[in-house]
Amino acid sequence: MADRDHVYVCESCGLPLYEGDKAQFSGEVTFCPEHAALLSEIIAIMEDDIALSEDEAYWPEWFSSLEDAQQHVASLRAQLEREGDHKPLSEV
Ligand SMILES: [Zn+2]
Repeated sequence: MADRDHVYVCESCGLPLYEGDKAQFSGEVTFCPEHAALLSEIIAIMEDDIALSEDEAYWPEWFSSLEDAQQHVASLRAQLEREGDHKPLSEV
């Protein structure tokens, strides 16, 4: 039987990620659990980004308005309070 093809590759270390593996999706890039960011780090990155002008920031690519982006950060903060700091991972 042929080896399964990997679906993604970790942006940081090149580890192949297969269906059913845990990984973190960040826009167009993917990270293995070892290189995934902590929830608190993601919030810090997003807060920095929201503070930038619309021309320099990345949030306009993902959100239709600054309010949407701020709301997303607020929901991440609520999640951090509920669940504590951890690396948010999803199944490939
Ligand atoms: Zn990695």
